[in-house]
Amino acid sequence: MTFDSSFGPRAIISGAALRHNLAVVRRRAPRSKVMAVIKANAYGHGVVPAARALIGADAFGVARLSEALALREQGFGQAVVLLEGVFTRDELDVAVAQNLELVVHTQEQLALLHAWRGSRQAHVWLKVDTGMNRLGFRVEAFADAWRSLRECTSVANSVRVMTHLASADEQDGAFTQSQLEKFAAVTKDLKIERSIANSAGLLAWPQAQVEWVRPGLMLYGISPFADDGSRHDLRPAMTLATRLIAIRDVKQGEGVGYAGTWRAARDGRIGIAAVGYGDGYPRQVLSGSPVRVGESEAKLAGRVSMDMIAIDVSNMPHASVGDSVTLWGDGLPVERIARCAGTIPYELVCGISQRVAVEHRP
Ligand SMILES: *Cc1c(COP(=O)(O)O)cnc(C)c1O
Repeated sequence: MTFDSSFGPRAIISGAALRHNLAVVRRRAPRSKVMAVIKANAYGHGVVPAARALIGADAFGVARLSEALALREQGFGQAVVLLEGVFTRDELDVAVAQNLELVVHTQEQLALLHAWRGSRQAHVWLKVDTGMNRLGFRVEAFADAWRSLRECTSVANSVRVMTHLASADEQDGAFTQSQLEKFAAVTKDLKIERSIANSAGLLAWPQAQVEWVRPGLMLYGISPFADDGSRHDLRPAMTLATRLIAIRDVKQGEGVGYAGTWRAARDGRIGIAAVGYGDGYPRQVLSGSPVRVGESEAKLAGRVSMDMIAIDVSNMPHASVGDSVTLWGDGLPVERIARCAGTIPYELVCGISQRVAVEHRP
């Protein structure tokens, strides 16, 4: 027997929004091939349905081997890039057998490839670190790593080169400029395909639009900057919604929720909605943050509980049990909620929990 979960939280994922956002990427980077980044379960949107909606991309990018294998199991035959590469012989065997492309960013991965004999060659992206100090060969070590890969018989000679921008979303562009210059310097004599830009790089740095771009966040309709996706013609692909499960009166001066941190300034009404940090609506969202009840905006009252939140509906005489509540998405950009919670929208959409029912709309 299944229970009607229509009173619990739902993440509604719009395939149409994903397709629209991919079209925006194409329009903004018309000369580049697109590696659609769908790691972390497509930023919480569901990797398989997201891949289906984004099928027009030239490649998919994922962080982990398990994510790539899930795509192959579901029959996706297109190029899939493992953005962190592989770490053991067994992983290398599987990755090459499944025709996955590997990022190579360490000496250990180079050694693994040199020691490896497979029935076919590995397709590789060499990563150079131009200043992020996370993954990639340092600029000084790049030429040797490049030569080593080209000499490696188990690597196909279509080697591509990539880097990652650390601050492309920031107003002051000096750091990004220096990353672009370093990348240009190390790749200038190579006739190869290159990749630099994530969403922020793609939108803010036309010079970063080389043969490949690697958008993630913007495909989900979210802005990488301090504004909202609609400013860039993006549409939110995820709406997190629930319902009011109770309405109650409060008297002036009474507190609401744990520790009573919100106090009623006058007699009023509180709506209780079925969503909490156990669903991935973080406790860091502060009292006073916006919540949509039906078509109107209201404010969170007090602390987020594990399964519930309280909303001040004193100004909504018609609010009643069963009303739809939007936490983020349609009509309430997740970027705004991230700002209220002192985090980034990436973390919010990635963080919805197993308990949230996911509804995929075409
Ligand atoms: C996650 C990731 C991206 C996508 O970044 P967005 O900011 O989501 O566009 C691109 N490249 C690499 C290497 C990544 O890890």
